[in-house]
Amino acid sequence: MEASSIRVGILEIQGGFSEHRTAILKAAETLGMKEKIEILSVRKAADISPALSGLIIPGGESTTMGLFISRNNMASSLQEWIQDEKHITWGTCAGLIMLANETEKQKIGGQPLIGGLDIVVSRNYFGRQVNSFQEKVKIMDKSLFSEANIPDHFEGVFIRAPAVVKVTSPKVTTLAVLSQSCSDNPGVIVAVRQKNILGTAFHPELTEDLRWHSYFLKMIASVQVD
Ligand code: GLN
Repeated sequence: MEASSIRVGILEIQGGFSEHRTAILKAAETLGMKEKIEILSVRKAADISPALSGLIIPGGESTTMGLFISRNNMASSLQEWIQDEKHITWGTCAGLIMLANETEKQKIGGQPLIGGLDIVVSRNYFGRQVNSFQEKVKIMDKSLFSEANIPDHFEGVFIRAPAVVKVTSPKVTTLAVLSQSCSDNPGVIVAVRQKNILGTAFHPELTEDLRWHSYFLKMIASVQVD
């Protein structure tokens, strides 16, 4: 690989890592970055290398993921890596939970988190009765998706999804809310960004819409040219 390669790691503990891989490659192609992108599996502490520019933490089960991370002594390497603002991290669903500094409705005794986002996340926010649904997500920051002819709604796939119930610092920007009546609260926050960390409660890797993967790649590219 040439020195200018952009290395994106995907935490391959569980969840849609192969779907993320496919979507990243497709998004890279549309952005003309495909030749530069190298995707690497992250399964152990040694895989969390400074040579990675981006990291995706897919969905799954945050308690299982947290246990795997602590049993394999990956937590501090991940935390150190994420703290470097040149490193771009994206958590989807359980990945968002892992990146929250606080969670609600967690297992008795707590659950290990990686942290990084100044938010409180409620696990299984939509309740057990709604295990999975698809719903329009309203994108709040339209500058993120500036391409012409693109709607400001995104079809979000939610699977036992969490939601952001509280933002605890002004550093956090709300990127998307649920616009329809999936819950009593019409403005449920389902995507946030805090500097180099992106979190979505839904699963863009399970749709054909590449906007979130493109956005993640653009975050990486913007840091690279700085
Ligand atoms: N609610 C799940 C958890 O607690 C996350 C579900 C998902 O990632 N699809 O981890």
